[in-house]
Amino acid sequence: MKEPFQRALGIIRKLKQHGYEAYFVGGAVRDYLLNRPLGDIDIATSALPEEVIKLFPKTIPVGLKHGTVVVLNDGIPYEVTTFRTEGTYEDYRRPESVTFVRSLREDLQRRDFTMNAIAMDDHGTLYDPFHGQRAISAKIICTVGKASERFSEDALRMMRAIRFVSQLGFALETETKQAIIEHASLLAHISVERITAEFEKLMAGPFAEKAFSLLEETGLYVYLPGLREKKEPLKKLAQYDWKALSSSMERWGFLCYLLLSDQESSAFLRLWKLPNRLMKDVQHILRILPLIRSHDDWKKEQLYEFGLDYALAAETIRSLIDMEDAYSNRQRLVALFAQLPIKSRSDLAITGKDIMGWMGRPGGPWLANILKKVEQAVIQGKVENDKERIKEWLISCNLTQEKNC
Ligand code: ATP
Ligand code: MG
Repeated sequence: MKEPFQRALGIIRKLKQHGYEAYFVGGAVRDYLLNRPLGDIDIATSALPEEVIKLFPKTIPVGLKHGTVVVLNDGIPYEVTTFRTEGTYEDYRRPESVTFVRSLREDLQRRDFTMNAIAMDDHGTLYDPFHGQRAISAKIICTVGKASERFSEDALRMMRAIRFVSQLGFALETETKQAIIEHASLLAHISVERITAEFEKLMAGPFAEKAFSLLEETGLYVYLPGLREKKEPLKKLAQYDWKALSSSMERWGFLCYLLLSDQESSAFLRLWKLPNRLMKDVQHILRILPLIRSHDDWKKEQLYEFGLDYALAAETIRSLIDMEDAYSNRQRLVALFAQLPIKSRSDLAITGKDIMGWMGRPGGPWLANILKKVEQAVIQGKVENDKERIKEWLISCNLTQEKNC
């Protein structure tokens, strides 16, 4: 058994010693069978939440309503969830309350896809009543039970299906795909936050192109924020190698750049309810992109002004669109940045105070002006970044005279 499972064995064994059933379930078992790196390890048990809390010294009651208790074992948190069914679904969303059950099979049956409905006990024995292993070998994503019913219960599962395509490179099983085509509109009932979380994972997957094709083909894109009218540009997204993009900021930047006009992007990003910081970052990149048409366009002053991270993001997006090697273009920028005599204003050998002292004037807008000129001169190599040299340069340019600032 792989090490991350070993570390959690104590939890399963303790539950069993007290007469309960307990298994590893969900994504970790799937990823173990796929030989992928394991994410969070989740445990399902017949014990009720209060019974779990009694057994372990360190627990956090994160989702008692849904039967989930976090158990801290050697400082690592594990979600331990009571076997449950989800009872009745309202409004095509997962229900607020659930029904606890004592059978593993019922718990596995409420799970979304067969590959996610496999349990593993403490000896490594698999319980796979819905043939998840078969789906994994065939590289197929298939709902547990009738796809149309499962998507009507919880429409987010349609987004999950396509994000798993992006992460695993699997294909959608025929009935599952057909049900997405037929039930796409139900996605309108799902909160933007939950859709965005799946979409972020979709964009970051190694098979994102496949997923974008499917969003278009199934019509699910119509119910994604701001994409209803973007069928044609959306097809373009499936033509690029998204793996070249290495951060959320780059992926949203690329998406906006390919799909939207300059005026549309800020409203579009707000529709997805992205964090303010991310929205600002993406808009900054979108302002840089039109200024840089080729890798030869980069000037030291621009690199200094934009900052290396934003410049790299913009250059990566530009390289991808121009079908150039993003890696070598990024290296070139990093090298250019390394040559800058200063990387930010705080690296300047003088401060505003120095200038005010030399000129005997109190601060004001004029000071920002001069500082900007000094910065530019240092970056362009017109003057060395040294206090005395800068003072001489200011005098030689007559910049110390009031009328010139
Ligand atoms: P990831 O590796 O991205 O975490 P995951 O399969 O573990 O993938 P989670 O969202 O962590 O996904 O969910 C854990 C498990 O809970 C899933 O494997 C699945 O069995 C079940 N599950 C999650 N969301 C749903 C849903 N909307 N409907 C039914 N079952 C779900
Ligand atoms: Mg998970």
